[in-house]
Amino acid sequence: MAKTIIISNRLPVQLQISNGTITAIPSVGGLATGMKSVHSGGDSLWIGWSGLTDEETPDELESQIDDALAEHGSSKVKLTQNEVDGFYFGFSNRTVWPLFHYFMEYSEFEWESWEIYKSVNQKFADAILEKADNDDVIWVHDYQLMLVPQMVREKRPNVSIGFFLHIPFPSFEIFRTLPWRKEVLAGLLGSDLIGFHTYDYERHFLSSVRRLLGPEVSFNDIYLDDRVIKVDSFPMGIDYKKFSEAAKEHAQRDESKKSELQKRLDTHKESTPDAKFFLSIDRLDYTKGIAKRLNAFEYFLNKYPQYKEKVRLIILAVPSRSNVPQYQLLKKEIDELVGRINGELSTVSWTPIWYFYRSMPFDNLIDLYTTCDIAWLTPIRDGMNLVAKEYIATRTDKTGVLILSEMAGSANEMNESLLINPNNFEQIADTLDKAINMPKEEQQQRNTLLRKRLERYNVEKWANDFMNSLLNQKEKDRTYISRRLSVDLMNTVMKNYKSANKRLVFLDYDGTLAGFHKDPQMAKPDEELYKLLDEIAAQEDTDMYLISGRDKETFTKWFMHKEYNMIVEHGVWISRMGKTLECWKR
Ligand code: UDP
Repeated sequence: MAKTIIISNRLPVQLQISNGTITAIPSVGGLATGMKSVHSGGDSLWIGWSGLTDEETPDELESQIDDALAEHGSSKVKLTQNEVDGFYFGFSNRTVWPLFHYFMEYSEFEWESWEIYKSVNQKFADAILEKADNDDVIWVHDYQLMLVPQMVREKRPNVSIGFFLHIPFPSFEIFRTLPWRKEVLAGLLGSDLIGFHTYDYERHFLSSVRRLLGPEVSFNDIYLDDRVIKVDSFPMGIDYKKFSEAAKEHAQRDESKKSELQKRLDTHKESTPDAKFFLSIDRLDYTKGIAKRLNAFEYFLNKYPQYKEKVRLIILAVPSRSNVPQYQLLKKEIDELVGRINGELSTVSWTPIWYFYRSMPFDNLIDLYTTCDIAWLTPIRDGMNLVAKEYIATRTDKTGVLILSEMAGSANEMNESLLINPNNFEQIADTLDKAINMPKEEQQQRNTLLRKRLERYNVEKWANDFMNSLLNQKEKDRTYISRRLSVDLMNTVMKNYKSANKRLVFLDYDGTLAGFHKDPQMAKPDEELYKLLDEIAAQEDTDMYLISGRDKETFTKWFMHKEYNMIVEHGVWISRMGKTLECWKR
């Protein structure tokens, strides 16, 4: 039976080793949840890195780890510390991540990291090849594994491969600066289906493929050798029900069941009923624009001083990639900014910014989402931004204002939010003012539409849409796509041709009967070609047609005297036995 194989850098389970025993705990993140419908039962396998390097894994526990992972339908790729450094912290996060988010100045082009990226991608591909059968469906995830599709395709030409990029794909002008741009594109083009969050990322990718590799591209299909690769957008959703139900449950909690955080938030709300809470939640990443948001907050308070002591910004910055130097510098910058702004603006009864540098449990996230009046999510560049969707899903009474960056992928589907340019402080200050004063009815109107859309396009639908599209592509490939002429196929065609009672032969001109030429008028038929065509046309019970998109004048000049049948100008003009067909005379 055909299997589904999912590949991502990290497995959807966390391994814990304590006292020589292994426990595998399933992750609850967006991807793991979304893939539930795809990764279920015994007919699917998830391949990825366990999170433990070889150095951290005692040899005697290897088989226990394999067993624990197998229980969750998972299988591990082993990586050394050096590989994790070069492949993940190196090429993935110091080259691809900044470049694809338009932070060119942060992008490091190091040969050694690229070599490790290639060899680790090969490790992932080998792990797939070891487990995959020819009729399996393989779904590769994200920017750490962009070479895997081609590496698998080389060894298993007929297997079905999908790839989804969870980050933006930048415009050609940015992408072209990557020294290994062609290798990365070739790696991706090993897929049958390549998915992006938005149509913009999709067209950036198609433009790079067209300009760097030059294959035929028609709409969103790329024609490469004897394959057709489909490129499409699939905006990733959230587990809407989980967030919405959790919010409903929170609203009904009595005092004793509330978290400490919720109790504190309630106390502040009660003491200043008119005050508004702004919420900002991101991983601590330079693409998220946290420092810019802090400066914009200060700008807002200077422009609208009447809101001093009336608003509070709650910033949750989740630690991330803290061993990459840019992230360490950013942490320092944000710590200092929060300190300076609070130092300058605080009063005895008011601290403008509450700053949390940690990851919060789900329950506390819901506390924040449901308590804060305004979500202020303005990344400088973001593939999607799920926090924006989660905030709206938890607003079960439909109140709340979402201020969202135009540069987040989610902005494409969340037009009813207040969209802003994260670099325009004037616009941000005015939008915060508008959000504070937005009537409840308007909030509800906007959020009703947003919530409906999020409920419909949830993460499960995203995964199913991608899988269905991949399966359709496989079917289409089998049914309609031309195949490279193999010796076997050629022999079959010859045999059938000879034994046929009646034959209808269509012969394409440019690229088939004559080579392509820079000046099309130079690709004239020569004596050898006339001789060949005469021979075919003279065969008994054989109708021969020349077909071309060329103009009728050229073909009349070249072939009318030979009385060949012709279909030219893409079918607009047809001649038979040296005469223009009546209905095509003009
Ligand atoms: N999140 C979390 N713990 C936290 C803060 C956030 O698990 O303390 C989750 C949040 O619910 C969301 C994800 O982290 O699902 C962030 O996703 P997003 O697309 O917004 O940004 P990314 O970090 O993927 O760039």
